Amino acid sequence: MATRIVFSQPGGPDVLHAVTFTPADPQAHEVQVANKAIGINYIDTYVRSGLYPPPSLPSGLGSEAAGVVIKVGSAVSHIKEGDRVVYAQAPLGAYSDVHNVAADKVVILPNAISFEQGAATFLKGLTVFYLLRKTYEIKPNEQFLFHAAAGGVGLIACQWAKALGAKLIGTVGSAAKAEKALAAGAWRTINYQEENIVERVLALTNGAKVPVVYDSVGKDTWEASLSCLQRRGLMVSFGNASGPVTGVNLGILNQKGSLYVTRPSLSGYITTRAELEEASCELFSLIASGVIKPEIPENQKFALADAANAHRLLESRATRGSSLLLP
Ligand code: NDP
Repeated sequence: MATRIVFSQPGGPDVLHAVTFTPADPQAHEVQVANKAIGINYIDTYVRSGLYPPPSLPSGLGSEAAGVVIKVGSAVSHIKEGDRVVYAQAPLGAYSDVHNVAADKVVILPNAISFEQGAATFLKGLTVFYLLRKTYEIKPNEQFLFHAAAGGVGLIACQWAKALGAKLIGTVGSAAKAEKALAAGAWRTINYQEENIVERVLALTNGAKVPVVYDSVGKDTWEASLSCLQRRGLMVSFGNASGPVTGVNLGILNQKGSLYVTRPSLSGYITTRAELEEASCELFSLIASGVIKPEIPENQKFALADAANAHRLLESRATRGSSLLLP
């Protein structure tokens, strides 16, 4: 028997419950992973709340974990029992002791990276990889705006931007978060609870504004983000922490300077095995060399059965860096 988190109807954190179950054997192209550390991602709250409805209910939750392979499907050749692995694109249900995952979505976790470090950085690091290297290729010395810079994705973006020699201007919700983002490599921060984002970006860039904005906050920052962009700049809207952006009048892109907008997702960029290997190689080498240091505060490590409390904390904006469930 194993334990997993399920929910039977969309709603707040209270809908999450731990249940016991007997894991099915992996299918031919799957491996079965005994999870050692499970990544908590903001997207999990969208699935739980009904913003991104699961395929069916009751449903499991979570798509990321690191652990040890305990069973291998008959058609799998590149992974064997006992391998240390990590995955970020599993079917819903990674909030579990044990999860079956398509083998081509699983990569070997280098020995230099712990299970906790792997689960804290894989989905978020792959995201930063595609955002800064593919959606728009950030260049040395380039100034750009990245919202929620002290969050899980945000702190990795700060470190990656610094490694690229770029000047990340990060928005944050408190002075303590500003310190964290600056220590991780942000060039400057804007406390958007107290400061006007557009005025500060204009001042920091001597009126030039930025060529690209990465916005995962959504509804609350949409319009300010557009106002921070240079003529023909790129708005990368990749999340909805404050609620989704809806009812956009395309004319606003004209008014703000012939702007471009994209709404990317991890699965749209890391789709093939070759794309997963390229991205994970680059991420792992930055972690192994200490350029990216996973940030997992002790109070953000939760027992698996405590998933509801983990969601409460994440949605309260009180977290920084990554949060984990530990089976
Ligand atoms: P975070 O750790 O960044 O947590 C979300 C943060 O958003 C909060 O800490 C908070 O930081 C900020 N925020 C701003 N407004 C609100 C609000 N009204 N309610 C709650 N939080 C708010 O989460 P993750 O690192 O897991 O994810 C970051 C974002 O990236 C999410 O929006 C997620 O959906 C998105 N994402 C998108 C992917 C994609 O491929 N499209 C892949 C992975 C993540 P502060 O207090 O500083 O404002």
